[in-house]
Amino acid sequence: MQPQQRRNSTQVMVGNVAVGGGAPVVVQSMTNTDTADVDDTVKQIAELADAGSEIVRITVNNKEAAQAVPFIMEKLDRKNVEVPVVGDFHYNGHVLLTQFPDCAKALAKFRINPGNTGTRGRDKNFCTIVEQAVKYDKPVRIGVNWGSLDQQLLALKMDENNELPEPKSSKEVMMDTIIESATRSSALAQDVGLAKDKIIISCKMSGVQDLIHIYRRMAAACDHPLHLGLTEAGMGMKGIVASSAALSVLLNEGIGDTIRISLTPQPGGDRAEEVRVGQQILQSMGIRSFIPQVTACPGCGRTKSTYFQELADEIQGYIREMMPIWRDVYPGVEDMHVAVMGCVVNGPGESKFADIGISLPGTFEEPKAPVYVDGEHRVTLSGDAIGKEFRKMLDDYIMNRFGRKTEQAEA
Ligand code: SF4
Repeated sequence: MQPQQRRNSTQVMVGNVAVGGGAPVVVQSMTNTDTADVDDTVKQIAELADAGSEIVRITVNNKEAAQAVPFIMEKLDRKNVEVPVVGDFHYNGHVLLTQFPDCAKALAKFRINPGNTGTRGRDKNFCTIVEQAVKYDKPVRIGVNWGSLDQQLLALKMDENNELPEPKSSKEVMMDTIIESATRSSALAQDVGLAKDKIIISCKMSGVQDLIHIYRRMAAACDHPLHLGLTEAGMGMKGIVASSAALSVLLNEGIGDTIRISLTPQPGGDRAEEVRVGQQILQSMGIRSFIPQVTACPGCGRTKSTYFQELADEIQGYIREMMPIWRDVYPGVEDMHVAVMGCVVNGPGESKFADIGISLPGTFEEPKAPVYVDGEHRVTLSGDAIGKEFRKMLDDYIMNRFGRKTEQAEA
């Protein structure tokens, strides 16, 4: 079974990355370093790109940050990190992009929040940013966020609503305003001269059902590519589950051209986790493949040993560690399935479905572990070196199956 056909959208190029128009759904991320700290920011952008982030956003919040942007791009270039970098602007984007043209030139895209372009000069400031985008041939993301919704527009919509014989709830008016803020801003940008194929839209909410509702409406209201993300998703399991729940529904309906998972990391935590979660959502949905998948059973009373958990964890860790090399050397390896199962009940069946799988012995079972390759029983391992031998078989399998492809391609 596959997700529904992708919604049609006008393709936008962000640097060398295509968004929408049938391009693969793009995984992106955002740094949390001080942008003015060039080395720190370069390091984190490189880490995010290495984890597979295809676009990275940085905040450009003051003149020090704007001044740093060209140096960040120069250093990334020297490190051969080719990821497009997007500038996130709030309140003073019109000033920074005008005063620091090298910053505007160096960025691959500008993110504009139409609720944060100023209360007095809202449209004028918005148009100034768009003019810089036109001048330097950059795309923009019109990023509406319910937490910073255009208050002028909201007040107007509330007043209009109050005049209705049957006024809507304030929540409904807010939802209408989010859609209107995005469509109005897109129209304004095009009036200024920005081409349609330079506009991406997002309408982020922090509630799962609200996000699904608003993106369904936005998807029907325009054909701009849509950037999906549950804003302020939260920490750890809550953030991952809520983001997965919201994005899976939309992606399954063909809505969404690029995604970002807004996880709050633990202090000192790995920022790249948000990239891996985004990739895993797409891979679990059967939309894109990034890394071989390890199927492991949850374990139960039939296996008291933790050995299969340790082996599943070891194999998963090994795959992640090797993937930066395998990705280049063994194209297609990301589609591979590995099974590590705890006992004879589902072990052989699940292992046969995998490309390579091992069924470890459960409690009271013979201490033997049959290994299946391409659905056929290949060998039965036993003794203390089961894990090591299985890993060797995994290496051989990858080299024989995916290495040969490379040779054929080169021949
Ligand atoms: S495969 Fe065996 S150990 Fe694993 S959950 Fe199923 S019955 Fe339990």
